[in-house]
Formats: sequence, C-alpha cells, structure tokens
Amino acid sequence: MKFRGVAGNFGIPASDNSNGENMATSATIGNLRITTLVDLTPPPRDVSMIYPDVPANDWGPYQDFALESGMWQTQFCGFLVRPMNGDGPIVLVDTGMGPGPHDPGDVPGQLLEELAGGGVEPGDISAVVTTHPHGDHVGWNVSYDGDTPRATFPNARYMIARADWDHWTSDDVAPNVPAIGRSVQPLEGLGVLHLVDGEEDVAPGVKTRPANGHTPGHQVVMIESGGETGVIIGDLFHNVAQVTETEWCPMFDWNQDMARAARREILGAAASGGWTVFAGHLRVGSNIGKVSGSGDRFTWQSI
Ligand SMILES: [Zn+2]
Repeated sequence: MKFRGVAGNFGIPASDNSNGENMATSATIGNLRITTLVDLTPPPRDVSMIYPDVPANDWGPYQDFALESGMWQTQFCGFLVRPMNGDGPIVLVDTGMGPGPHDPGDVPGQLLEELAGGGVEPGDISAVVTTHPHGDHVGWNVSYDGDTPRATFPNARYMIARADWDHWTSDDVAPNVPAIGRSVQPLEGLGVLHLVDGEEDVAPGVKTRPANGHTPGHQVVMIESGGETGVIIGDLFHNVAQVTETEWCPMFDWNQDMARAARREILGAAASGGWTVFAGHLRVGSNIGKVSGSGDRFTWQSI
C-alpha cells in the first residue's frame, strides 16, 4: 500500500472522507495549516522488539487500534507549517529518512514530492526544525552532489537543540551513527546551523519547547494562532497505546524516566488545553488528534 500523494493535496479540507474513513492528513491552528508529509512507510516490525519491557498480553486491549496484525506499523514523516493566506514564513519540522534508496525494494523517500504536490519548493522553506537527530528525522537535511554536501533547503536555518548537537556530534557517538555525519554535522560548515537553547521562536505562532528524554535535547514544536494551540510531538510517543500506557517506552528512548515525564507533561497540557496533537509515527490519517485524561493515563481521539 502506497501513501505517496495522500498528504500532497494541501487544498483539501482537514478531513478527506473519500475512502469512507476519517483520513485527516492536515489541520488548521488559527491562521496556520499543518500538513503531514509522508516520506516513507517502512516494513512493519515485531512489537516485542520495539517494546521489549511490555509483556505480549498487555497489548490485548490495544491490539485492534494500536497494531496491525500484531505488528508495529509506522511512518516516517515531516510536517509543514504555513500561513493559510500564504503570507509569512514556511516551516518544515523534521525531514524523514531522506533520498535513500531504502530497503526493501530500494525505494526513495518522498518528502520533496510531497512538498511539490502542495506547490512548495525547497527554497521556500525558511526554517527546518529538528525535533531530534535520529535518522528518520534528518534524512533530507543535506543533499549531495557527488561527495559535496549542500543544504537541501538553501534558505532555511536548521534549528537543532544544543543538548542534542553536543551529544550526537561527540567523538563517542558520532562515528557510530552514520546519519549524524551525513545529515547533521555538515550543517555547521554550510553555515545554516542554528542551535536552540530551551524555548525559541521559529516563526510567528511557531516555537520550540523542550521535551527531553527520547534524546538529550528532544524538542516539540508549539503552534499558537487565533486562540488555538497545536503541538508537533516529535517522538514523544511512537504508538497510540503509549498515550494511555505512558509508562511504556520503546527501545529508542535514551532516558526512559525523562521520556515518561516529558510524555505526561505534554499530554497533560494538551488534554487540559484542548490542543491538537500531530504525531509523526502514527499511521497517516489517524495521526492528528485530541487527547483527554490526566495524570499518567490519557485517551487519543483522531480528528
Ligand atoms: Zn522517530
């Protein structure tokens, strides 16, 4: 099943019911429209490998809506944030897996096609926010002409949390993580790197907010416009079951206690504030929602 182009038609209303199901791939927050850009749909993975501390039986109540045939099926996505009236900066949050080719089938990432489908050229992007520099979030940061790197989005400043930069580019870590050398470290020499400390404005109505734990500098992106609030959550959770079982951590979380605390803090604020939540690793079409609840248990409702 291919998702190419699903999110590309930016002119559609937030809910595209063409297939009879709720398939919202974008939503508005005041004057801003946030659109899911699907770069790649990877093969489904064994949930016991992704969540090694969760007993298989505990998935029972979540089997139907959190898994597909018992497997974890995700997407690698970015999000585009742009003004409805076309007047103002355009922001890209995360850049997917990149050109590849990726296994299986040597498929390339589709992010640039997704952008083009909405009439956006790479040069139109004024800021690229990296929620964290894992390989599925930085893939299109840098393009190569032979061995020569260039910024894929030449007019953007690339905003990465300083705590993540310091960790991932350290001599202990960087040599073991190819994506850092390929898609993160060149940004410095290209003169487009902007390190973020704490909260920082990205564009009118768009700012970063620390939510550390998944990585040392993991950050979410807050959208505030016209009295409405949204949050692009990065990897605060990878599966909708984690909204309820906030204790559960995937193998990817760098510091589980910090990750749990950040998950509960942001979900609590989203529930009490009625925020719209944009989650890149949920299946496209059900990856934008509202949450209810409090404390350490919440419920997800796709919009
Ligand atoms: Zn991720």
